Amino acid sequence: MKTIYLDNNATTGVAPEVFEAMRPYFGPEYGNPSSIHTFGGKIAARLEEAREQVASLIKADPSEIIFTSCGTESDSTAIRGTLESCPSKRHIITTRVEHPAVRGLCQHLAENGYRVTELSVDRQGVLDLDELAEALTEETALVSIMWANNETGVLFPMAKIAEMVKSAGAILHSDAVQAVGKEPLDVSKVPVDLLSISGHKLHAPKGIGVLYVRRGTRLTPLLIGGHQERGRRAGTENVPYIVGLGKACELAGQDFECEREHIRRLRDKLEDALLSKCPGSMLNGHKTQRLVNTCSISFEYVEGEAILLLLDRLGICASSGSACTSGSLEPSHVLRAMGVPFTMAHGSIRFSLSRYTTDDDIEYVIEKLPGTIQRLRNISPFGRGKTEEVPAKKS
Ligand code: PLP
Repeated sequence: MKTIYLDNNATTGVAPEVFEAMRPYFGPEYGNPSSIHTFGGKIAARLEEAREQVASLIKADPSEIIFTSCGTESDSTAIRGTLESCPSKRHIITTRVEHPAVRGLCQHLAENGYRVTELSVDRQGVLDLDELAEALTEETALVSIMWANNETGVLFPMAKIAEMVKSAGAILHSDAVQAVGKEPLDVSKVPVDLLSISGHKLHAPKGIGVLYVRRGTRLTPLLIGGHQERGRRAGTENVPYIVGLGKACELAGQDFECEREHIRRLRDKLEDALLSKCPGSMLNGHKTQRLVNTCSISFEYVEGEAILLLLDRLGICASSGSACTSGSLEPSHVLRAMGVPFTMAHGSIRFSLSRYTTDDDIEYVIEKLPGTIQRLRNISPFGRGKTEEVPAKKS
């Protein structure tokens, strides 16, 4: 059975070009970039090339790029490193819809003496900027707001946010893990101080990340030890993965608009068809202020996990907006923050596409999903009779 992979916000496949670029660094090119000899020096030069490739994608200077082990490490370094470098300020502003890599850390900091303000979002997942304006004070050390939401794809207005945060004198971090490679990001125009990237969301391997640190930003390193990454992140560099991430960034920058258009067209085709063919369905998140690859749809009176299991049997990979907490399924904190009604939030499915998604993939899902939803409704005590019957297809 063919796999239709529509879960690219969870992780992406490594691009063949990325794999090829990495290969020599698992084999003959195994030198340590910190070594004095030529064998190591060659590797150091290759790392710098990768740094330039990453910097070029977000219009940064290569010296502003720090390689880390993942998006989570980048988030932690940005947040903890900023707080440690300005100990007199103990207020953090973030949002209710951040990824656990930011939200979990901020909650931990709140339990340890920091004051944390979580900004709310409206029914479409859009941030309330008046709340941000009210929350910013002289005590605010850091504002951490994601560029794009991983569940709904909703984009936050980072240029406006940066203007507000900078005029209040605070440091701005953005978790751009879901945005880099999908949205045109330009740190020369949007004055964020710190920005997190994760390789496995843009066709590089899992276990490699980047923290962009604007020149002049004060930051205490999370890992202290050797002098790698100019003393900003100790530990021998993961050379093959760094090379892979550089290549992935180069690829993401090529045919950027063309690729986005391809992905957007397929996403819209899927979304329009599902919303029209499945009664009792609804889009989660703003219709247009959204990543081109993401679509989160709620199907009333069905369990997201049940939909996923049936889709899995058809070879379709997606994810749900529920998380298993203490043995019971709870709608995600993102959908709860948006005020999505319980009966809807439980049946939410996220589809996330990539450059490798095809028309055939989308047509297959459009063919299979409406019948699957209706079959689940027919066996649900709440769903029966709520919506029209879609006859099961004979196969
Ligand atoms: N931030 C966001 C928005 C994410 O979607 C993810 C991963 O899903 C992360 C951070 C964590 O990245 P990593 O898996 O590289 O630690």
